[in-house]
Amino acid sequence: MSIVVQKFGGTSVGSPERIRHVAGIVARTVSEGHQVVVVVSAMGHTTDELVKLAGSISRKPSAREMDMLLSTGEQVSIALLAMALHERGHRARSFTGWQAGIRTDDVNGKATVRDVLPVSVIRSLERGEIPIVAGFQGISPDGEITTLGRGGSDTTAVVLAAALKADRCEIYTDVTGVFTADPRVVPAARKMDEISYEEMLELAHLGAGVLHPRSVETALLHGVPLFVRSSFQDEPGTLVKEENQMESTLNVRGIAHDLHVARIKVLGLPNRVDTLPRLFGLLAEKHINVDIIVQSEHDRERVDVSFSVDENEEHRVRDVLESARDHLGFERILTESGLAKVSAVGVGMITRPGVAATMFNALSEAGIHVKMVSTSDIKISCVVDRDRAVEAANVLHEAFGLGVDHAAVSNR
Ligand code: ADP
Ligand code: ASP
Ligand code: MG
Repeated sequence: MSIVVQKFGGTSVGSPERIRHVAGIVARTVSEGHQVVVVVSAMGHTTDELVKLAGSISRKPSAREMDMLLSTGEQVSIALLAMALHERGHRARSFTGWQAGIRTDDVNGKATVRDVLPVSVIRSLERGEIPIVAGFQGISPDGEITTLGRGGSDTTAVVLAAALKADRCEIYTDVTGVFTADPRVVPAARKMDEISYEEMLELAHLGAGVLHPRSVETALLHGVPLFVRSSFQDEPGTLVKEENQMESTLNVRGIAHDLHVARIKVLGLPNRVDTLPRLFGLLAEKHINVDIIVQSEHDRERVDVSFSVDENEEHRVRDVLESARDHLGFERILTESGLAKVSAVGVGMITRPGVAATMFNALSEAGIHVKMVSTSDIKISCVVDRDRAVEAANVLHEAFGLGVDHAAVSNR
């Protein structure tokens, strides 16, 4: 019998009716002869509300206590979904992350899954039950509850699918699949029937919140076929899979945007060979992810280094750098928040010159100032002011002709 892992996000389990509806989707898959393992997120905006609640008690809550708090959201949904399946006459059993054997490192708030030992989930399947696993959470080597970072339930689903050698992993959400840009802000965005793991990974890293980046990384590593589809409409979704040659003839496949970017400028650092490793080593020790880095040499004595980080990290970066001012020897730090990053992604870009020129032209014609740029084989990203980011995403979507259905055009 084939195993299917089905994950339902916050909106999909946002109310008792939605939970009953999800129970119906799971029951239908079981009736088709599959063994189903379910992963759920916290109901609706529960996680945001818990974050706010913590903020009303403490300005800087401990990361351990935050994980203790946030992990409760998913525990509510697993129990309720199990009850909804019981009501339909199914045998179902809920599991927290640790009960399901999701073992992580000890980085509270953004833990990485190290190992999955789903013994209890397998036993549950063998007993003819539907196991329902809490997404987003795991257990550290010291037995502490950890969480995988916002949106991490997708990763719980894919690591379980890989460990159980599932036939497929289905991510049910509030849109009908992966689009050429965020359909909520780019009205011309088009649903893709398929996308390669590599392109999806890049889009996810660059802010396309529909899939947690590490879920795509894991799916790629283990070759898990990943479907993104709607829990609201019964339509085929998007299949994330190995690259298809036909697809790579397209330049740009999608536009992603990330609205939470800050730029840090470290001015007047000593122009020495160990300056960069000292600076970024310090940030790495604190698990701070640095994105675009630009270095400019003043003269033989001094260099300036600018880099972008997630806006949530801005204060922490400042604290870490200020406390190492003597060690690093810089003159000044400037920080700028209220920025965003807009990116064009596509594996075909590698063989197409002129993608950067098209991007800069389109932004310049719209009067959108580019503050930082970074490129790789399959993407170009520009940092812009946040209040122009959605406009930039729409402008680029149009400039790269993404609103046109290429498959439909070639089929005519
Ligand atoms: P869930 O709670 O189901 O995990 P998320 O909010 O995490 O749902 O992800 C779904 C959202 O991702 C959509 O509502 C959409 O606004 C956003 N999104 C961003 N980029 C894309 C994209 N390229 N394709 C589809 N959805 C996208
Ligand atoms: N509930 C968590 C969040 O809101 C995890 C998830 O939804 O995937 O980030
Ligand atoms: Mg999500």
